Amino acid sequence: MSSTVTSLDERTKEYGREIFARLNRQGPVLFTRAWVEDKLMGLGMHDPALKVQLFRFVDTLPYLKEPKEVARHLREYLNEAKDELPWWVRLGTKLIPDRGILGQGLAFASQKGAEQMARKFIAGSNVQEAVAAVHQMRTRRLAFTIDLLGEATITEVEADHVQKQYLDLLAGLTREVNDWPEEPTIDRDDRGPIPRVNVSVKLSALFSQFDPIDPAGTSRAVCRRLRPILSLAKQTGAFVNFDMEQHSFKDVTLQIFRDILTEPEFRDWPHVGIAIQAYLTDTEADLQALLAWARDVRKCPVWIRLVKGAYWDYETVVAAQNHWPVPVFTKKWQSDANFEKLTEFLLANVEWLVPAFGSHNIRSISHALAVAEKLGVPPRRYEFQMLYGMADPIKEAIQSLGHRVRIYTPYGQLLPGMAYLVRRLLENSSNDSFLRQGFAEGLAEELLLLDPNAHAAPPSHAAPTNHTEPMSHTEHAGTQNGHLPPARGAHAPRSPFANEPLTDFSVAASRTAMSAALDQVRKELGRTYPIVIDNKPQPVGAVLARENPSRKSEVLGKVGMATVDQANRAVASCLAAFDGWRDTPLAERTGLLRRLAEQFRKRRFELSAWIVLETGKPWRESDADVAEAIDFCEYYAIEMEKLGAPQARDVPGEDNRYFYEPRGVAVVIAPWNFPLAILAGMATAALVAGNTVVLKPAEQSGIIGAKLMECLQAAGAPPGVVNFLPGDGDVIGPPLVQHPDVALIAFTGSLKVALLINEQASKTPGGQNFVKKVIAEMGGKNAVIVDSDADLDEAVKGVVDSAFGYGGQKCSAGSRAIVLDGIYDQFLNRLVEATKSLAVKAADDPGCSLGPVIDAEARDRILKFIEAGKRESRLAHQTDLGALAEQGYFVPPTIFADVPEAAGVAQEEIFGPVLSVIRAKDLDDALRIANGTKYALTGGCYSRSPSHLEKVKRKFRVGNLYINRKCTGALVDRQPFGGFKLSGIGSKAGGPDYLLQFVLPRTITENQMRRGFAPETAPGE
Ligand SMILES: Cc1cc2nc3c(=O)[nH]c(=O)nc-3n(C[C@H](O)[C@H](O)[C@H](O)COP(=O)(O)OP(=O)(O)OC[C@H]3O[C@@H](n4cnc5c(N)ncnc54)[C@H](O)[C@@H]3O)c2cc1C
Repeated sequence: MSSTVTSLDERTKEYGREIFARLNRQGPVLFTRAWVEDKLMGLGMHDPALKVQLFRFVDTLPYLKEPKEVARHLREYLNEAKDELPWWVRLGTKLIPDRGILGQGLAFASQKGAEQMARKFIAGSNVQEAVAAVHQMRTRRLAFTIDLLGEATITEVEADHVQKQYLDLLAGLTREVNDWPEEPTIDRDDRGPIPRVNVSVKLSALFSQFDPIDPAGTSRAVCRRLRPILSLAKQTGAFVNFDMEQHSFKDVTLQIFRDILTEPEFRDWPHVGIAIQAYLTDTEADLQALLAWARDVRKCPVWIRLVKGAYWDYETVVAAQNHWPVPVFTKKWQSDANFEKLTEFLLANVEWLVPAFGSHNIRSISHALAVAEKLGVPPRRYEFQMLYGMADPIKEAIQSLGHRVRIYTPYGQLLPGMAYLVRRLLENSSNDSFLRQGFAEGLAEELLLLDPNAHAAPPSHAAPTNHTEPMSHTEHAGTQNGHLPPARGAHAPRSPFANEPLTDFSVAASRTAMSAALDQVRKELGRTYPIVIDNKPQPVGAVLARENPSRKSEVLGKVGMATVDQANRAVASCLAAFDGWRDTPLAERTGLLRRLAEQFRKRRFELSAWIVLETGKPWRESDADVAEAIDFCEYYAIEMEKLGAPQARDVPGEDNRYFYEPRGVAVVIAPWNFPLAILAGMATAALVAGNTVVLKPAEQSGIIGAKLMECLQAAGAPPGVVNFLPGDGDVIGPPLVQHPDVALIAFTGSLKVALLINEQASKTPGGQNFVKKVIAEMGGKNAVIVDSDADLDEAVKGVVDSAFGYGGQKCSAGSRAIVLDGIYDQFLNRLVEATKSLAVKAADDPGCSLGPVIDAEARDRILKFIEAGKRESRLAHQTDLGALAEQGYFVPPTIFADVPEAAGVAQEEIFGPVLSVIRAKDLDDALRIANGTKYALTGGCYSRSPSHLEKVKRKFRVGNLYINRKCTGALVDRQPFGGFKLSGIGSKAGGPDYLLQFVLPRTITENQMRRGFAPETAPGE
């Protein structure tokens, strides 16, 4: 270590000791009032299982209206973790009173307790209370920045309301605060007066469709609401800071920050800042870019609030779930070390990036003081910021050293404030928290003041490294804040299969690649895609023109339409290739699937672009379609390797082999709604099992079918093993299904066609010496139950996504919301507003949340359902389509409310953006309604009651049930997909039983005895 580094570290420690000397570490110093939170935090700190349950309880409390509901939830939460809880908590759980005076007392005490706890961190519920709080702070010579707490902005009305609240806040605050007598320690820096009023804004609150996939659209919408806020702040002499949220929002937040502050109106305005998170591995580059922009482009400084970051758990979990690189450091010391490195960067560039250090960590603060001193930065040029309700003695100690301390002061209603409260509770009780270690656990000062790089082991890792590898599943489990203990059974051996990561469209390179692919595909429009038999393109006869459903005028290409004769030739080709393919070694068949997956990977964006254009699927969902196709290839290859190993059941003198062989010629008839994934999934399952395949795509997605055939050929499918047979289902469907050489039909599509195929295939004409096998996945009339204690932010968003994702054209779509009486009106209001806020657009626009339906026939059929719906229930919302109605095949997102459970719109599968909302008396009633259709495909439930969820799991009889998330988006292996009743007659796609349907089991028994002797059988064979 060089002598300068040593002296900086020594000076840092001196500052640290000085700060420690100025505060009293005894007792509950984190908060001013100690009662409930100290008990709760104390319990939680020593018992992680209890912590999770208690925090969940706190989160749910504001929703609970009745005392008995409070008691029930508390009991249920504690019961859930009973195996991991200390004995005295288990005993206490039994004594929780349900009703009577004691029950009411408990409910009152819990609600008051939570409220008091919230009030420690939240300065008031309205502007007046917030003003009173900041006034009180000024008497202690503490500056403030005010933050408005709110629920997630999922509607445009809410975004307007947030804007209005900020405008009111600025007007109200500046009127009062600017009249207060000056307090030079906080109202001036080393060069003169600075704004007294300081507000913090979260940009995602200003636009309901805030989405990094569309930075330009997001920026436009946010800036429209932000501009008046900044104008008013500038006029009234206030300061505005942009908060930083999750990593996926970072780039668009930075872009908006730069764009709007380069506008002529704001470009010379220095009273703006942005939070930058040191726990991110890519922060240094962001600061370099901000410096270059402020110095060279804007030529006016901005403030940087340097924080470590508040979303560590979220970032690690989201990355693990998606198999994405983890954007945050994974060791606490790395975040601390990076904070110090960035501190040095900021203080060295203080002319352009004015630092505000947001930390309660005495080491981090002391380091900033030591660096500033070393660089000769005047103490009032920079400031420290801390959170309201936390670490008050540290605030006072820093202030007593002559530094400006600003308090981040949130205000707002308790209900929306809960998320903020729970974040603070988690932060304070985390094992790695400085405050916990320093105050609750009383770690020695010298340890707390240690250079973070000294924690690195081995020493060569002392500098923070770019830790962008995905974490292993065990690495993050329970590492920090309130992670659940692993689910029972989570330790079962993991499958060697891993899902293909979805594209992260918050990454600029992904968006560029997708735009480029769309441009490229547009250059290839107008081609003709022929039928392919024996790997040879067939002479083109009749063709079907394919148009873009988002823009009917755009013709994409033409696809050959097979004749009955060609269908017969395709089957004959398959039959001729069958014996050879059946006897091809398994490794070659699985090899074909793996090479196919590689083809998909290579052409990922191109295929997605074709899906966008031919089927009107938005970007993200088109990408998911290709990822799922890759998953099917990889998964079925692995599953077939398992099935392919013959099973032996030998006894002395007798060998027994049990094994599978393919059925024969398979006809694969696929729908257009997952144009690549379902077609590829059914085909690869058939192929890997050794069947030969007639590939019949839907008429509406013939080009994507042709692209699949190209990929199959490029992957080396031998002639005749797959024949590509696009055509009119009415013409070639029946001859294919009834063909005496076709052994298997794998179909996904409508109930009507599935039943017809089943009936036709059940006939066994003379000469056909086997019974055909039919695998059929049909529709659904899927319901999402919303319980009265559901988290409305989540439930509304989940129902909207389930109902309107890909225009409701997924068989998994949630087309019924069954809502409990207690929350019905509130839910419906937000649901309608959230639906109004959806961006109905052409699917190639990255900002599209809802595109067209597939074709004119679908549009007309859906519109007829809507007309019928108007006669049987109340139309709660229908979006106005404007010019889109003419441009493409668009159907307005439509919500019916108070729908009778037997109404057509509540019973028939519509396959369009139409949602029926049904009122239920209680959970039993909701379950009865949910199960009351002829389908059983998917279902969902939003509830925070463990006992209700338990009941839902037992009684909601569907193939795929989703709890507290949307009911679409099943992933191969993780959520094998398929239903029963009239939703399906096969077993689940992407699941362990699927391939069994494509094979026939055989047993061979060989007597090994020859005149009384037999070869030796090894034990266990
Ligand atoms: C005024 C102010 C404004 C803020 N604004 C924002 C904001 O806009 N956006 C935002 O995200 N946060 C913001 N924060 C929250 C802030 O990020 C946390 O309060 C802060 O991280 C706590 O850090 P500390 O230095 O006080 O405590 P410490 O205890 O030293 O650090 C805790 C932090 O270390 C990091 N960490 C914890 N475990 C690990 C691990 N295993 N590996 C790597 N890193 C780990 C996390 O960031 C955690 O919050 C703000 C805080 C303040 C004081």
